[in-house]
Amino acid sequence: MTEIVNLLGLDADGLARRCADWGQKPFRARQLMRWIHQRGEHDFDAMSDLARDFREVLGRCARVAAPPVVADHVSADGTRKWLLDVGAGNAIEAVFIPEVDRGTLCISTQAGCAVNCLFCSTGKQGFSRNLEAHEIVGQLWHANRALGAGDPAQRARGERPISNVVFMGMGEPLQNYAATLAALRILLDDNAYGLSRRRVTVSTSGVVPMIDRLRDDCPVALAVSLHAPDDALRDQLVPLNRKYPLSELMAACRRYLERAPRDFITFEYVMLDGVNDSDRHAEQLLALVRDVPCKFNLIPFNAFPNSGLRRSPADRIRRFAQRLADAGIVTTTRRTRGGDIDAACGQLAGEVRDRTRLEERTARVARAGEAAEAR
Ligand code: SAH
Ligand code: SF4
Repeated sequence: MTEIVNLLGLDADGLARRCADWGQKPFRARQLMRWIHQRGEHDFDAMSDLARDFREVLGRCARVAAPPVVADHVSADGTRKWLLDVGAGNAIEAVFIPEVDRGTLCISTQAGCAVNCLFCSTGKQGFSRNLEAHEIVGQLWHANRALGAGDPAQRARGERPISNVVFMGMGEPLQNYAATLAALRILLDDNAYGLSRRRVTVSTSGVVPMIDRLRDDCPVALAVSLHAPDDALRDQLVPLNRKYPLSELMAACRRYLERAPRDFITFEYVMLDGVNDSDRHAEQLLALVRDVPCKFNLIPFNAFPNSGLRRSPADRIRRFAQRLADAGIVTTTRRTRGGDIDAACGQLAGEVRDRTRLEERTARVARAGEAAEAR
């Protein structure tokens, strides 16, 4: 039996190669890419400008399918979270955050995460597996459809519900490099989503050799999860620091900036009460990043059950931000969005740990789907 390929994970070269195997010219691959990603079409028969015999081949050998949706929550602030089933009791999450001037989709790259940061609920659930490229792109494909992006009237008005994509969901993107790279290429492709490099951000806990590879292969905006100003504390918070200490991480950031689409690195810094939020920590940070053009994004810690950690008080966060700003570093504090639906950073897929419940829910959704089809 020939393997059925999920076209959502093929970048331009991959799709062109498949199409060549099927005896098709390269422009067919581009047409197909536009149907899939720009029109959100999954039914080959609806792709009216493809020859009938090619559609038949596609029907036999290929498919276009995002991971099935297990749950779809909308927060009071408009944040929307989808829980997607990636099999074997694993679910991943994608979160859409609407703002006045943009719409950001936050996507996942792994089911679970092996880095195991002390303050992260994803890390606490352990590592299940890497997502395939089609599962990463499938999150954007699905969200676009759910938000009406394929609608010709909306497209004619030039409206795009999703203007930015951040790889800040579950998982460490640079520990799933090949699939992340394929997904990035699809996000940037003009025949697919056509996003500019500045509007796509990869967030990493600091996988130094892969920061260099990303710089060479596909430099997009880079966010680095710093969280501590010295190795002793960062070793505790982000265990990967024991392998790639701060001096190496800072050097990798400087090398990245030689090719980056933006002229700064965004440092993310989770604010943990009494752990990393003192004036002394702020001073140390300023010394650490002296040679790295950067902005800071302070993230108030989002609690989850049994974390044993607390969010820094608001006035402490303000004071910390002010110290960085006074030294000339643009500093923002992330507004917590979607807290009422557990969609905030580091809270993702807390539910996955309860696999039985997930399986029950998946079965329930499948039964509801069958019932709807039968009607
Ligand atoms: N693995 C990558 C990307 C996913 S995590 C990384 O670590 O960068 C995205 C961001 O959410 C990271 O900056 C991470 O440190 C932060 N985060 C994780 N858990 C959090 C929590 N409980 N509260 C606030 N931010 C958290
Ligand atoms: Fe993994 Fe990022 Fe969570 Fe750390 S913060 S455990 S790297 S997902």
